[in-house]
Amino acid sequence: MDTVMSDPESDRRRLIEHLSANPERCPLCNYNLYGLTSDRCPECGKHLKLQVGLTEAFLKAWLVLVAPLLAGSGLGVFFWVLAPGGFPGAPDFLTNLAFHATIYYFMAMPLVAFFALFGRRRFLRLSKLIQWRVAMTAATLTAIAFLVFLGFVL
Ligand SMILES: [Zn+2]
Repeated sequence: MDTVMSDPESDRRRLIEHLSANPERCPLCNYNLYGLTSDRCPECGKHLKLQVGLTEAFLKAWLVLVAPLLAGSGLGVFFWVLAPGGFPGAPDFLTNLAFHATIYYFMAMPLVAFFALFGRRRFLRLSKLIQWRVAMTAATLTAIAFLVFLGFVL
């Protein structure tokens, strides 16, 4: 993946230079690495490297998308188990339609959750606005489906 080969010796020099000016802590044992002269943590002995990170919590929208999908998948699997026995019907057409639409929505959920889990990188490349729109739409639809389902069960 790297197009530029990194040189271990200059990586080490840059790390030591960074630590001579910045009070960083070891990500594993929290030892203060300020003024360190090697690329190993003196406390836990782990190898250290200088790395570029993102400044925002970039996974938030993805988690808002995935959490309701996984919760809905649980119910979906339950309906798949019940499916061979058929689902009870409701007396009037519209109630029947709403009830079955909700059941099929949850039954489709494991597949949707699968794509969301494995499409994480692709999702994160979308603009923040689109990410939040997709996540909020999934969360809202799933919340409505849960409420409709509860309305039938209770
Ligand atoms: Zn350490």
